[in-house]
Amino acid sequence: MADFRKYSIQELMTGLRAGDFSSREVTSYFLDRIETLEGQVHAFLSLKPEQALQQAERADAVYVAWRAEGRQSSLPALLGLPIAVKDVLCVDGFPCTCGSRILQDFHPPFNATSVQHLLDAGVVIVGKTNMDEFAMGSSTENSAFGPTRNPWNLAHVPGGSSGGSAAAVAAHMIPAALATDTGGSVRQPASFCGVTGVKPTYGRVSRFGLIAYGSSLDTAGVMAHNAQDVEALLRIMAGFDPRDATTSDLPVFDPAPRESDLKGLRIGLPLEYFIEGIQPEVEMAVKEAVRLLEEHGAQVVQVSLPHTRYALPVYYLIAPAEASANLARFDGVRYGLRVEDEDLIPMYSKTRGKGFGAEVKRRIMLGTYALSAGYYDAYYGQAQKVRTLIKQDFEKAFEIVDVIAAPIAPTTAFKLGQHTDDPLAMYLEDVFTLPANLAGVPGLAFPVGFDGNSLPIGMQLMGPQFSEQVLFKTANVYQSFTDFHRRIPLSVQ
Ligand code: GLN
Repeated sequence: MADFRKYSIQELMTGLRAGDFSSREVTSYFLDRIETLEGQVHAFLSLKPEQALQQAERADAVYVAWRAEGRQSSLPALLGLPIAVKDVLCVDGFPCTCGSRILQDFHPPFNATSVQHLLDAGVVIVGKTNMDEFAMGSSTENSAFGPTRNPWNLAHVPGGSSGGSAAAVAAHMIPAALATDTGGSVRQPASFCGVTGVKPTYGRVSRFGLIAYGSSLDTAGVMAHNAQDVEALLRIMAGFDPRDATTSDLPVFDPAPRESDLKGLRIGLPLEYFIEGIQPEVEMAVKEAVRLLEEHGAQVVQVSLPHTRYALPVYYLIAPAEASANLARFDGVRYGLRVEDEDLIPMYSKTRGKGFGAEVKRRIMLGTYALSAGYYDAYYGQAQKVRTLIKQDFEKAFEIVDVIAAPIAPTTAFKLGQHTDDPLAMYLEDVFTLPANLAGVPGLAFPVGFDGNSLPIGMQLMGPQFSEQVLFKTANVYQSFTDFHRRIPLSVQ
């Protein structure tokens, strides 16, 4: 059988159309890899192999009929492509646990809009991926169902909160996986696992069916092995949705033009992202990647985002505040777990006490405190004002540059357990990813090197709102003359 690890999604689709191989072959290849590696990596929370194979066979029947009738009609763009979905997005027919005991038995009877768009395009969903509980975390260690491990070194975390998606793609257990990014959860695990991932502009992809964490920050994105594949999936997921009032009605962008150089592109290097404490190899790899982009025609200038250092405190007020409101709905009455009691209030508190993990409780308390009478203006109100300053930093920078290039995390993937007793140290991992969410701008993460321990290093490109196309164009050029995105982790070959 062909080695499908070496195929891009574009190549898989071309092969499926040509009849070089079938969706059943492709799907069973990845299901076999999942079966072999899942015990080591633990990237999945649920799997439906038989259902996936049946869907693959249905896709194959459509291909056969299409070829028999002379390839006249148009086919769904991703017909028969197996993918995985982070367990925060609702998929009919699968549980949706959000990595939490409180939703352990929740089976949503509908699809998230982003998922529905992909199903309409013909994808086969094989499973749901592991994540930090309610997407709160940077290592996937906050999952109630055990951590995921980094395929590049199983003693290290895959990043989070979308660590399951990133590890599954990195280990070639699946060609692509959906993920979400509220404060870095697509970009940071993509970076730790050496894959390409996009956090779109806020409002580009519908949040309908995405279990809410911080509603003004949440975005649904996707990970795969190269920018072209990520772009192809994002364009299908995106678009206006009457069921999400914050989606934009701007038309979905066209595929990025295939350029051979970056003439005319202005790249900004933000002063505040190259600070003391950043792992020297990370800084070097990012600067080297930018130098390569410059060599291919881009112009590089230094920019300043002066309020960057406030992003962490601002995010850790606004996100928990929104979470404390969003998670109030999980009370033992409507969804999932219930711990019985004769009275209502003890039933609520016992259910929530048992159902939520420590980090989720910590954030609910933080958020409730920040929103309480007497503190609201001092904390939440103040954080909103500083959020505006952070957004304005980006607006000013984008007057002089087209994109901003920056590290994604101060370090490469850390060891399991390294930060579990120190929430603040864990929060510090997010310094470089939070600003894009606070400003609502898109970010594209892709691999630009490895550290001395063979752990991947990622870089992010950020652009003005709705500028995804230029981010993809830039990454396409970079990936046309580098091969970091093609490397395969040795421990899971
Ligand atoms: N690591 C950040 C947090 O813990 C971001 C998570 C996310 O983007 N969902 O909140």
